[in-house]
Amino acid sequence: MQIIWVSGPVGRIRKVNLTFIHLMAGFSLAALLLVLIGVGLQYFGFRMAIEYDPQLAKQLGNLHSPVELENLTAFYNLKLLEVNKHLEVNQEKIDELQKSNKKLEVLATPLIIRDSSPKQTSLGGKFIPVDGLDKSRPLKSFSDLLNMMKAQEEYLDSAIKNSMSYIQWLESKPIGVPVKGAFGLSSGYGIRVDPFNMRQGFHTGLDFQSAVGTPIMASAQGKVVKSNFDASYGRLIVIDHGDGYLSRYAHAQEIYVHDGDLVKRNQIIGLIGTSGRSTGPHLHFEILKNGETIDPKAMLVSLSK
Ligand SMILES: [Zn+2]
Repeated sequence: MQIIWVSGPVGRIRKVNLTFIHLMAGFSLAALLLVLIGVGLQYFGFRMAIEYDPQLAKQLGNLHSPVELENLTAFYNLKLLEVNKHLEVNQEKIDELQKSNKKLEVLATPLIIRDSSPKQTSLGGKFIPVDGLDKSRPLKSFSDLLNMMKAQEEYLDSAIKNSMSYIQWLESKPIGVPVKGAFGLSSGYGIRVDPFNMRQGFHTGLDFQSAVGTPIMASAQGKVVKSNFDASYGRLIVIDHGDGYLSRYAHAQEIYVHDGDLVKRNQIIGLIGTSGRSTGPHLHFEILKNGETIDPKAMLVSLSK
């Protein structure tokens, strides 16, 4: 290829022969120049980045020296150990809470029903603290710790579930004292001399002596299955607590609930009176298990021993 151009005031004609080699050299030079410009920009770019955010610049530029890398790994491992320690402490606290829960359960559960208390369903994956984190693989240790955190969460979830189901079970057991206010226990459960015919008879409940109009409370949550007048029980309320348990409240002056009502523990369901076969104002309270009366004293938490 031949290029001819005219230059200068005298109009000198110049001629150049452009060979393939010339062209290639030209292109190469241009390319090199572009690369240099690019490298230059990158270099200055990094210089600026280093000034404004050295950490980021280092990460972007992957400019870690072996010593820096070692320090960084040591730093991550330290953090991971800290997390591990926290998980360990949390597990200790959860275990403590579990122990206190157990104690409370025992305190709130009369001996007579303790054997039938809900068995704990198996707890979720138990937390096992890491003995030694793999120091050369912080990322692996990190995912191990995450898995343990998940296991701890499952453990906590099942512990809460167990507690809730225990409370639910206890809520429906007639273990609450059925009188709101002062009372005296006038007649216990068992053989006694009948106050009407003076003969020996079996007293099927516990008598709470208190003033007429003293509130009667439901001993546990349940469903009212009877709320009417009975010749001997007088105004009578019967609550079905499920699981074979019934509670009876006799000789009431007034009844505040109806058949089919759902009641909660300590809900006021009537007033103490002396209706029916009664010698004075009192609440005759019975607990039945599978159709048989049992000693209420063994069931009522604040009276049971
Ligand atoms: Zn009685």
